[in-house]
Amino acid sequence: MEGIELKKAAFLPHPPDPAPFLPDSPEFLHRTIASRGLGRACLNLAVLLNEVEYARPESVAEALELLASNDNARALAGGQTIINVMKQRAASPDLLVDLAELEELTPITVTEDGGLELGAMATLSDLIGSSEVKERRPILAEVASRIADVQVRNRGTVGGNVCSNDPTNHLPPLMVATGATMTIVGAGGTRTVPAEDFFLGVYMTAAGPGELLTKVSIPPAGGTGDGFFSVTIGNEGTGIVNVAATVNGEARIAIGCVAAVPVLVTSRPDDDSVREAVRGAGLDPPSDVHGSGEYRRHLAEVLAQRAVAHARSSG
Ligand SMILES: Cc1cc2nc3c(=O)[nH]c(=O)nc-3n(C[C@H](O)[C@H](O)[C@H](O)COP(=O)(O)OP(=O)(O)OC[C@H]3O[C@@H](n4cnc5c(N)ncnc54)[C@H](O)[C@@H]3O)c2cc1C
Repeated sequence: MEGIELKKAAFLPHPPDPAPFLPDSPEFLHRTIASRGLGRACLNLAVLLNEVEYARPESVAEALELLASNDNARALAGGQTIINVMKQRAASPDLLVDLAELEELTPITVTEDGGLELGAMATLSDLIGSSEVKERRPILAEVASRIADVQVRNRGTVGGNVCSNDPTNHLPPLMVATGATMTIVGAGGTRTVPAEDFFLGVYMTAAGPGELLTKVSIPPAGGTGDGFFSVTIGNEGTGIVNVAATVNGEARIAIGCVAAVPVLVTSRPDDDSVREAVRGAGLDPPSDVHGSGEYRRHLAEVLAQRAVAHARSSG
C-alpha cells in the first residue's frame, strides 16, 4: 500500500488451511486448548509462523485502509490468541495489521452519564489497574485479574478478548450481563451493537472483515449489583463454565462455555427462579475431557445462583 511499509515476517511456505471452525461444533473446547498453545506437544504441530505481511498503522483510518486492502488481513492486538492460532495452522492471514500504535484505542474513560468506555486496546492489566473501573464497575477488574497469568494480562486486550469470542473467554459473558455496547468502525462508518448481538459464533463476531472494534461501553451501575463465578481448569485456568450476572430488580445472567456464544437468561433474583430459568434455557453443552455436557449443565445452574446471590448483595 502506498506510504505504508509491509514487512515480511515469516519463514515457512503456506500449507493449505485446515477446515474452518464450525461455529456450533462441540469441538470448540479442544480448539480453545490448541489456540492457547496447550496442546502443542500432543498434537506435534510446528511452532513457526507461515509467511505473513506485517504493518503498523498510525491511525484508525490507516488501519481500516490496510484491513480493506486484503480479504485475508487480520488485526493484531495483544497477539495472545492470533499468534497461537497461526502457529497451530488453524488460521493463516496474509497480512497482520498491528494496532499497537493506535493510542486513541487505549483509554479507559468515564462517560457523562457515569458509565465507562473501555478502549479496545486497553489491556487486561489496564482494567485491573484503573481507578475508574475500581470505583464504578469493580467486577471488570476482578474478572480480568482471574484470566490466565500476568504475561497474558499484560498483552491481552479487551478488544482481542471479545473479538476472538473464544467460548471459554471470561469477558464475553461479562459484557452480555452488564449490557455493554460495542462500537465498530469500517468503510460504512460507525455503528454500535449490543453485546448480546455482537457474539455470533466461535471466533465470529459482528466486527466483520475490514472492520475494527474501537471501544466497549459499559452502562452506569446505578444500583446494579454484579457477580461472576466460574469453575476453571486449575487456578486462573480456562473456564469449564463461566457465569456473569447483574441484578437490578431483575437478574440478567450470561452463561459462557456452554455454547458457541454466551447464553443470556433473565429471571427473578431468587435461587429457585434462577435455577428454573437456567434449566428452561435448554442448554446443550459439549462434553470433553474436562467435563460432560451434563456436568456443565449442572454447573451452569449452581454458578448462576451464586453469581446472582453475589450480585444481589453487592448492588
Ligand atoms: C495461555 C493463555 C491462556 C488464556 N486463558 C484465558 C482465560 O482463561 N480466559 C480468557 O478470557 N482469556 C484467556 N486467554 C486469552 C487472552 O486473555 C486474550 O484476551 C486473548 O488472547 C485475545 O487478546 P489479544 O489482545 O491478545 O488479541 P489478539 O490475539 O491480537 O487478537 C485476537 C483476535 O481478535 C481480533 N481483534 C483483536 N482486536 C481487534 C479489534 N480491536 N477489532 C477487531 N478485531 C480485533 C484479531 O484479529 C484476532 O482475530 C488466554 C490466552 C493464553 C495465551
